[in-house]
Amino acid sequence: SPASRRALEVASIPSFRRISEHLNHSTYAHRKHLPGICDFTLGNPHQMPQEAYVDALRDALHPHDDQWFAYKTNEMDAREAAADSLSRLLDVRFEPEDLYLTTGGFTAIALALKAVTDPGDEVIYSLPPWFLYEPLAVEAGLVPVKVRIDLETFDLDLAAIEAAITERTRVVIINSPNNPTGRIYPPELLRRLATLLDDASERIGRRIYLVSDEPYNRIVFDGTRFHSPAEFYPYTLLAYSYGKTHLSPGERIGYLALPPSMPDRKELGTAIEAMQLAMGWIYPNAVLQYALPRLETFTIDVGQLQQKRDRLVQELGGMGYRLRPSEGTFYLFIQCPIHDDEAFTEALGQEDVFVLPGALFETPGFFRISLTASEDMVERSLPHFRAAIERAGQ
Ligand code: PLP
Repeated sequence: SPASRRALEVASIPSFRRISEHLNHSTYAHRKHLPGICDFTLGNPHQMPQEAYVDALRDALHPHDDQWFAYKTNEMDAREAAADSLSRLLDVRFEPEDLYLTTGGFTAIALALKAVTDPGDEVIYSLPPWFLYEPLAVEAGLVPVKVRIDLETFDLDLAAIEAAITERTRVVIINSPNNPTGRIYPPELLRRLATLLDDASERIGRRIYLVSDEPYNRIVFDGTRFHSPAEFYPYTLLAYSYGKTHLSPGERIGYLALPPSMPDRKELGTAIEAMQLAMGWIYPNAVLQYALPRLETFTIDVGQLQQKRDRLVQELGGMGYRLRPSEGTFYLFIQCPIHDDEAFTEALGQEDVFVLPGALFETPGFFRISLTASEDMVERSLPHFRAAIERAGQ
């Protein structure tokens, strides 16, 4: 094979293969471009982008000087605007120099892992996970260690995390607001997690870092206050993406931020900058860096997203689906009325209603809906969801 052992290893990760299969070869793959389908699969836009977003990009494209399209690393205006905004969100005063701009949140996670781990280290995360933690970990030569959340409350299982820690543990990844459950972890839980990680680091004689994957930290419903692990655990690397905030995942920009409480953060910063260069592809697009101060001034219409959540929660709940309303993110993670979530989603797919089976999140018995579907898709899907649960009851 022309492929490296590492590439073959990544390509053969079971959950990764399942997702590629689903996105490229399923009924959804064949029908996703057809008009009239109800697409609840990925967190992709299904309506025209906001004018404010397009204007910000258009204005940023206009050159102010002959260096406008020169190599750009960490534009200071962008770092300052981002640090300001994050400091207001979290009540932690982030320094602009401690924010490293990246090509989306995805890249910020990759960068965080590369900056603090060595091959063979273990990285703990909770199931259901974001699909790509495992490929990111395996590509970095790490050993993924998976624990389950509590599927009734959607909370982290701290005892399971504690039990999974070994002398090789280097990173715990936490994702709040969570994809796919929509859970926002409460501050008391994050405080207990911080104590647990402090104690465990002392016990194993090695610092455990926390990677806080929080691209949805502005997509929060019902006026809930979001809290980041960075407020409680100084050894947190915070990964953020603008792709969710503006529902523009193809326009790749985000950052990795270190809180001011992190010891030796300048040294870690040097490691981060070295890895940014060594990884080759991660400096974000210059135009997006210039646009960033404007992008910090607005979000997508979170109220509209919340209305779609409310409509689906009320309607699907009324039909007999068991679900916990999401507190944020684009998603609802719903119990499947039959055990075989893949058969259930395939049957819905035959009626052109596309959702993702829990199996893709290593959590069979559930399915995920993306609230980024249009209002029209939501309305048209309802009779199909009703028919599906009625069939399941027969
Ligand atoms: N983390 C989570 C939990 C996500 O859901 C996503 C995107 O789906 C990402 C990270 C990556 O975000 P981006 O593609 O904007 O870099």
